[in-house]
Amino acid sequence: LLMLGIETSCDDTAAAVVRGDGEILSQVVSSQADLLARYGGVAPKMAEEAHALVIDQVVQKALDDAKLSESDLSAVAVTIGPGLSLCLRVGVHKARQVAKAFGLPIVGVHHMEAHALVSRLVNKDLDFPFLALLISGGHNLLVLARGLGQYIQLGTTIDDAIGEAYDKSARWLGLDMRKGGGPALEELALEGDPNAVKFRVPMRQHKDCNFSYAGLKTQVRLAIESKNLCTEDVPISSASEEDRQSRANIAASFQRVAVLHLEERCHRAVEWALKMEPSIKYFVVSGGVASNKYVRTRLNQVAENNGLQLVSPPPSLCTDNGVMIAWTGIEHFVVGRFEDPPTDDEPDDMQTRIESSSSLSAG
Ligand code: ATP
Ligand code: FE
Repeated sequence: LLMLGIETSCDDTAAAVVRGDGEILSQVVSSQADLLARYGGVAPKMAEEAHALVIDQVVQKALDDAKLSESDLSAVAVTIGPGLSLCLRVGVHKARQVAKAFGLPIVGVHHMEAHALVSRLVNKDLDFPFLALLISGGHNLLVLARGLGQYIQLGTTIDDAIGEAYDKSARWLGLDMRKGGGPALEELALEGDPNAVKFRVPMRQHKDCNFSYAGLKTQVRLAIESKNLCTEDVPISSASEEDRQSRANIAASFQRVAVLHLEERCHRAVEWALKMEPSIKYFVVSGGVASNKYVRTRLNQVAENNGLQLVSPPPSLCTDNGVMIAWTGIEHFVVGRFEDPPTDDEPDDMQTRIESSSSLSAG
């Protein structure tokens, strides 16, 4: 079984070929990081054009690197949501084009399910049920995965996701956004004192598994203003030594509290999950923010304290990638969940599903 996976939900154009046994034959990511750094965020129309510009090359490279042609493939998997619909369309269009030309079935993939399930490619012993924390630019989800397509949401964010808080804080601190806000902040935090700034831990009075990062984001903004750091105008590279230390202290303090919030909610989620499914052995942590070393270390501790084993994919599989889409495509394909090859006169119904694919709930 050979699956091509295509991902265009946000700012990365990615494709990969994965074999049925989980062997990764190729993995290509074309990032719009430069665009993002220049314009301060994802502008859907611009992102769509950037995807459209590279999608053919990215898919071709994935096939070339795998030493395959389209006719060798068993099926095509493509992200149908959640994400920016203009961007999703580019990937879906490409997937349908390949599928139609070569008579291949299509598997529509939920982006967040893929972030979770790629952990099963990484660790072949990882059976359902398991607990998963998905932390990325747009999502903060705690999910009890009971089986393929059977997910119980234990918690979500009531405002921003942690990745958004990392990205905004990094920008306000004047960091180099070309390497990504999260990685830049993680690096600077190493130079800072995590107890220098007293940020409040969010939602302690709410005894549930939900998250909130908007307030912490504002606290970072206020800390920057109160120290009179004109950070957005003065990039960190040209800051004085004292100024740099202040910024590092804010970064380290932000990171400590942002992750402490994760730890507290995860600890409770483990308790809830074990009540529902006492046989759980694994705690999966995935999504872009899971590539952060401090996050991994702290959550590994949460897992160990609760007798669970942490499974967190390598960083290249935590951030957006085509492998997770191909692998999730395989998981669905082998149990018969796929669509027949598109034909000329059939309505483009995958396009309508893009709009309705935003929640990861029991299916
Ligand atoms: P979603 O998956 O919610 O649709 P997305 O696909 O844009 O959002 P991902 O690629 O999964 O997000 O993750 C990107 C996010 O991860 C960004 O917010 C980025 O800053 C964050 N991130 C990446 N690396 C790190 C890191 N080392 N530390 C903290 N955050 C990180
Ligand atoms: Fe993602």
